[in-house]
Amino acid sequence: MRGHHRKVGFVPTMGALHAGHLSLIQQSLAVNHFTICSIFVNPTQFNDAADLKKYPRTPARDIELLAASGCDVLFLPAVEEIYPKDLDPTVSVELGLLDRVLEGQFRPGHFAGVVQVVHRLLQLVQPDRLYMGQKDYQQFRIIREMIRQLELPVELVMVGIEREADGLARSSRNLHLSPEDRRIAPVIYQTLLKIKQYWMEKEVEEWKSWGSRQLEKAGLKPEYFEIIDGHSLQPIHAFGDADFVLTCTAAWAGEVRLIDNIIIKEG
Ligand code: AMP
Repeated sequence: MRGHHRKVGFVPTMGALHAGHLSLIQQSLAVNHFTICSIFVNPTQFNDAADLKKYPRTPARDIELLAASGCDVLFLPAVEEIYPKDLDPTVSVELGLLDRVLEGQFRPGHFAGVVQVVHRLLQLVQPDRLYMGQKDYQQFRIIREMIRQLELPVELVMVGIEREADGLARSSRNLHLSPEDRRIAPVIYQTLLKIKQYWMEKEVEEWKSWGSRQLEKAGLKPEYFEIIDGHSLQPIHAFGDADFVLTCTAAWAGEVRLIDNIIIKEG
């Protein structure tokens, strides 16, 4: 199947597939000869055992969706296949400050697990292109760094965030939202969108506290609400400090932790 002009696209997921995953698959199908999707709920990226246990698993529906999408191969490995006993799973990547902020602050060890699993999946699948969502922007940025440092022969493609009609970013975790939490969850996107539209009208710090307040007023519990440099992931102090700026947040809606982000300006 592989050859000079035959390109393989790869979409790694943790399953409970939704339209967000499918848009990654569509992008891959559009430009590659062959598209592979993996479903592997990676234990090493869960810092909380209870979270791993309750992570949604819908294999029968996933298989139906993949078959209907036109995806060529589903790779559904067992834990022993990804982490065989005789394989040293350490990946030497120096992330600097990239995993000390945002998700990294609240999910210790999470990105070490992500780096490990994506590295291993790339080793097994050997794709030409790797598709990842902007939804997990920090993850995308860290994998880009891994590919750069290890000089891996793969092109990383970022795909925009797929949303519900009311703006809520699609996520496997949305399945666990209560009806009331589902009702308030779109406030996250509404808040991010306001900042994108009117960022020039306030200072960075004002927007950050305004954003957190909006989420709290709606009944959400923000863990962080940051305005960052998209390259370094570090918080900025003024919009003039960076060319590529994102607003990123994580907030609890009841028992469900939601993340979302928006690009405020680019280039
Ligand atoms: P997950 O199964 O949550 O690990 O996600 C697998 C891939 O799909 C990751 O690259 C995510 O960033 C991406 N993804 C998840 N949700 C969305 C979404 N709403 N829109 C676009 N991509 C997404």
